[in-house]
Amino acid sequence: MIHLETLKSDLFTQNQWRNRLIVESPQGPRIQVAGKTYLSFSSNDYLGLANHPEVKAVAIDSINRDGLGSGASHLVTGHHREHHLFEEALADFLGVEAVLLFSTGYMANLGVVSTLFDKTSSIFEDKLNHASLLDAGLFSNAAFQRYHHVNMADLQRRLADCHQQSRLIVSDGVFSMDGDVAPISELVKTCREYKSDLFIDDAHGFGVLGKRGKGSIEHCGLQIKDVPIFMGTLGKALGSAGAFVAAEKPLIDMLIQRARTYIYTTAMPPALAAAARKSLAIIQEEPWRREQLQQLIKRFRSKAAELNCELLDSATPIQPIIIGDNQRAIELSEGLLQRGIQVSAIRPPTVPKNQARLRITLSALHTEEDVDFLVNCLADLL
Ligand SMILES: *Cc1c(COP(=O)(O)O)cnc(C)c1O
Repeated sequence: MIHLETLKSDLFTQNQWRNRLIVESPQGPRIQVAGKTYLSFSSNDYLGLANHPEVKAVAIDSINRDGLGSGASHLVTGHHREHHLFEEALADFLGVEAVLLFSTGYMANLGVVSTLFDKTSSIFEDKLNHASLLDAGLFSNAAFQRYHHVNMADLQRRLADCHQQSRLIVSDGVFSMDGDVAPISELVKTCREYKSDLFIDDAHGFGVLGKRGKGSIEHCGLQIKDVPIFMGTLGKALGSAGAFVAAEKPLIDMLIQRARTYIYTTAMPPALAAAARKSLAIIQEEPWRREQLQQLIKRFRSKAAELNCELLDSATPIQPIIIGDNQRAIELSEGLLQRGIQVSAIRPPTVPKNQARLRITLSALHTEEDVDFLVNCLADLL
């Protein structure tokens, strides 16, 4: 075993030791921790659906009707009608041939990449991709390289040097710690030109971006089926838990046959799929949630532009403020906490060295006053 005490003291001296908050309330613009209420700018519940009364009611009905646990994996007896109905509703919404549910986004990413690509393949990932995508690349045993963040010239140079025929380009749709949107049109063009597959993980874009909420691909003016493999999660904008992969039917069929993270795990509780189907309906019926979010993003950015700090170029609800030093990021996060605001200090290894940041996330349920209060508190501290 690794030496725990040495590792622990290393993490302490680098200000990388992490503590978990114990939350005592539902998710929402306000959360309760240790008996105290905080204005929260840390959650990925972008549309305020994690505690939505109708979504909860559907989940409770499903538990009463269908029970709690699915009792088995999908290929045994765990594949419930609620899972199937959600897959069909989602395929219809996205305009794709087929959708497959996974229990988590992490497992979806591992499953897709390691089932469809192997040691005869070459995988090209954006340097800032989510940890689960990087792990998926390593897990697949493919030759694996990371190109400079959103740098198409670097990616194309690497593709031109590649002799393998089986190639995959992998990118976040919205980068989870920076909030910028991937250049999806260029990625689609590059994947066609270099005869590569393309996999977009839209955990932070799905439900949030695009006129109809289809995510970063719609935001970039394309259709979901222009991207050969599309993945989204249910734990962020949909306020539930789980994930899905959307693609043509033969690809989805092969994942059902071969993806180990699909086959060798218990299917998610049917109630989560039922709740996610309700959230999907709300996303379609209530565009005001996305519009409100865009208003708040605009307000935050115009006010924060006057602060003494570095904002990243982000049009999404992820609005990081780069601080650099780990200790300073922790101090600022604690300063906000004393003023009744919860914002996480994100540190390496989640972000590159010397790029510790306050990762501010907005929700459709925040008010303009909430945003103004945050910016005023930041002005005091920065
Ligand atoms: C959150 C996230 C995941 C993991 O999804 P889970 O369902 O939480 O396991 C994968 N990719 C990205 C980009 C994410 O932000």
